[in-house]
Amino acid sequence: MEITSYIIKKCTKIVKLYNTLSRNTEEFTSIIPQKAGIYVCGPTVYGAPHLGHVRGPIVFDVLRRYLIQQGYQVRFVRNITDVGHLVGDADEGEDKLQKQARLEQLEPMEVAQTYTDMYNSVMDRLNVIRPSIEPKASGHIIEQIEMIQTILNQGMAYEVDGSVYFDVEAYRNASNNYGELSGRVVEDLVAGAGNQSRDLEGQTEKRNPTDFALWKKSSPEHIMQWSSPWGKGYPGWHIECSAMSAKYLGEFFDIHGGGMDLLFPHHECEIAQSKAAHKHTPAKYWVHHNMITINGQKMAKSLNNGIKVEELFTGNHELLTRGFGAATLRFFVLQAHYRGTLDFSEEALLASDKGLARLVAAEQLIEGLKVSEVSTVDFSDIIDSIEYALNDDLNTPIVIAQLFEAARRVNLVNDGKETIDSNSKDLVSSLFRDYFRGVLGIPSNQDSSDNGTLDSVLKLLIELRSEAKLSKNYALSDQIRNKLKESGIELMDSKEGTSWKKA
Ligand SMILES: [Zn+2]
Repeated sequence: MEITSYIIKKCTKIVKLYNTLSRNTEEFTSIIPQKAGIYVCGPTVYGAPHLGHVRGPIVFDVLRRYLIQQGYQVRFVRNITDVGHLVGDADEGEDKLQKQARLEQLEPMEVAQTYTDMYNSVMDRLNVIRPSIEPKASGHIIEQIEMIQTILNQGMAYEVDGSVYFDVEAYRNASNNYGELSGRVVEDLVAGAGNQSRDLEGQTEKRNPTDFALWKKSSPEHIMQWSSPWGKGYPGWHIECSAMSAKYLGEFFDIHGGGMDLLFPHHECEIAQSKAAHKHTPAKYWVHHNMITINGQKMAKSLNNGIKVEELFTGNHELLTRGFGAATLRFFVLQAHYRGTLDFSEEALLASDKGLARLVAAEQLIEGLKVSEVSTVDFSDIIDSIEYALNDDLNTPIVIAQLFEAARRVNLVNDGKETIDSNSKDLVSSLFRDYFRGVLGIPSNQDSSDNGTLDSVLKLLIELRSEAKLSKNYALSDQIRNKLKESGIELMDSKEGTSWKKA
């Protein structure tokens, strides 16, 4: 097929996404033509990124890349939660950041910076494009206070002794359905809450157990506190996303994403806050990815089965016998549909590693394929199937299956069992470039796990070399550079720092 006709065909296809709010797969039409605003809930930065942190960013990165490929101009906002997320995940307990700061004897903002940097460096390795805007909750206190004030003015919140709570009953009395996203039933929530201790902090102030904090009064020893019309305090966890998404994407934007674990209470509360303040849901499409399990078990701190991403890269974990590269991890995540569960095990990672190696090997053969007058292989059907799969609620496992089929055909040509003309060769080359590297975003510098380990080792050497340079030990810094060159590794110095490549 001619490239031009392929492009025309592509434009007539439509992206479909499963919308949790309507419980239907819907055609995606952006609010402003050819522009797409996406908000994804980011990490609470109080610990090193673990396996549970990688799926969402990779899934929404693929969605972003695909929309860009479809001609959309995408504004992608992913926040950093550095205040307001309490240990109990509800309105009780200490702030997660403040607790970690106390444990590490650091400023809370030092904790936030450390783990934000760590998170972003993991995301870089996973080839997740950085957000267009990465707002921090602590940097948007004014916006949150303003939104709380609006909700108070609408009569859907109340103040008690310096704290402000969202009034779920008033919200429902104004014909809103609290539970429309998560499917939770308020009466069940009330009955469930009845079993909990009423002594929990804040519970006695609430008119109803389903009410949630918009603003919490802080005790004098609380480090993170700001002045507000209700006295010194700090914002609740849910209001930051409502305030920041409205600020950067408008009061009504295209896609709100996150994990299914955030459906309730976080996203349900976001919808309630926006409806109370702006009279409508903040986002047109609500897209949720499923969670990762470990050897069939839910990942949880209490089960002590969490794996840090760094441990995955190094293999330094009791469930692993070796390290895996970022490309393998990304490929593994995309081998499952984002709404299905994804079970992690070393066996599964080993299988992903093998599969990825097969695709990379085929990709590397393409350039050297001998061109014939006639092509006995075609790739346009594969591109059609890939497009269809991506349009069909981002079905990445089908995309990968089609890439394997492309690799099979490439191997047949390479073995002399089939022939390829220059058009087909161009097509299969663009197929790997646009989908394998482009939309799926498989990083190219860390194809094999060896490279993942190699990367960590080289990072260490690069660090040692810059330390040597700083202490004016140029003999050592030169020695590191020269010895590496002898081993086929070239170091490249630039303003941004030092990177490496295989010579
Ligand atoms: Zn959020």
